[in-house]
Amino acid sequence: MKVAFFGFGSCEGCRYRVVNELHKLAGESGIEIVREPLLGLSADTEYDVAVIEGSVSTRDIEEVKKIREKAKLVVALGSCALLGETSTLGYRLGLRIEEYVKDGYADAVPVHQVIKVDSYVRGCPASVDELVRLLKTLVAGFPPLRYERRFDYERAADLVLDDGFLKLDTGKCIVCGRCVDLCAQLDVHALTQAYRGFRVIVTTPAQLPFVEAGCIRCGLCAAYCPVSALRYRSDVEGALELAKRGGKAVIERLALEVTAEALRVKPGQVVSLLRELGFSEVEVVDPLALAAGLGGLIPFSSAEERWIRQKFPEAASFVKPHMKLAAGEDTVVISACAARKEDHTPTITAHELVEIAKWSRIVLEDLPDEPLSAISASGVKVAAGPEECKAAIESFMKEPSGTLILQICPGGCAQGSGMPYRLLSQR
Ligand code: SF4
Ligand code: SF4
Repeated sequence: MKVAFFGFGSCEGCRYRVVNELHKLAGESGIEIVREPLLGLSADTEYDVAVIEGSVSTRDIEEVKKIREKAKLVVALGSCALLGETSTLGYRLGLRIEEYVKDGYADAVPVHQVIKVDSYVRGCPASVDELVRLLKTLVAGFPPLRYERRFDYERAADLVLDDGFLKLDTGKCIVCGRCVDLCAQLDVHALTQAYRGFRVIVTTPAQLPFVEAGCIRCGLCAAYCPVSALRYRSDVEGALELAKRGGKAVIERLALEVTAEALRVKPGQVVSLLRELGFSEVEVVDPLALAAGLGGLIPFSSAEERWIRQKFPEAASFVKPHMKLAAGEDTVVISACAARKEDHTPTITAHELVEIAKWSRIVLEDLPDEPLSAISASGVKVAAGPEECKAAIESFMKEPSGTLILQICPGGCAQGSGMPYRLLSQR
């Protein structure tokens, strides 16, 4: 049986995974891969089964129809092919990317809305074992199974929870469960799954507003949601307006460093980038240095402050107010932590700054490397992640001394909600 792989609107992660695990297919007699551009096999050829990854946008329709005509069977591989999701990621920041749309990439839809699909392999990324099982079934001469039919059904009503900081749109959710797991890792449990079978949705317990459900507004779930079904508030438009008017940018040192790492430039060039965007003044601050010498338990942001209040009410007398960056009216704050959006508007995350840089068409490597002054944060201890925070608070209550900064995200702020996605996926 000759199998051909095709990729459309997707990150290609499913096919990379398949390619990396081809040995599982190679061992199966009767399966021959005749087309997979990732392996250098891209010639026009005959095939029995077409495996299609990715959603279909306007410009792909004719090609997909031709594949259908040639193939005896068509398999839709992965969540994008099933749901048409990834091609909509360009809208993550609320920006409509006109050129992208003009090029015909609008209206990404699942494969089955354009051609007849004989079987599905679910997942983001798709399950290789499921694909192997399916191809074995076909080689053995059995009819294809439609593993994942639940997404063919229209839900009666999609739930949208939006409190101005966090927005959950179950219409976009692929029910991967990452957000539920992450929230549980924080010991918060503000997200859960409800209903059964194809009706399963992710929601808050009893569909309560987020904060009433215990949400500490860390933004971590939004940072890791693969399809933007969960999003934190975007202040990108306000920040760019302010830049145009020559406002000021206050950027945290960590945000500066991770933006530089994600863009593959030096931190001083990120300062130049901000000036190039229009900011008349750029101030680099380190919240840890601001806390030096204050003494006590200091929540890094409003998220940690909420978390301590929920988990350790008995520690109230040791807890100082969370660290806020001084920012006036015409100032944008740039942080590695989405929770800072609670303190000031506009606040953008390092992730959002990376996206702005990408779309700005500024040639980054040509930007001057501005010298940065050294900032010292000595004498400050940091507890990172829920387990370390719990242990550190308990020990501080027994023996209060020094300054202890609490960062609730597992791995600390370096893996927090405002981090650029490229770095988050590597860490
Ligand atoms: S923002 Fe944080 S606390 Fe709130 S639902 Fe998401 S992960 Fe849970
Ligand atoms: S991370 Fe996003 S896609 Fe996955 S279950 Fe949560 S809301 Fe749905």
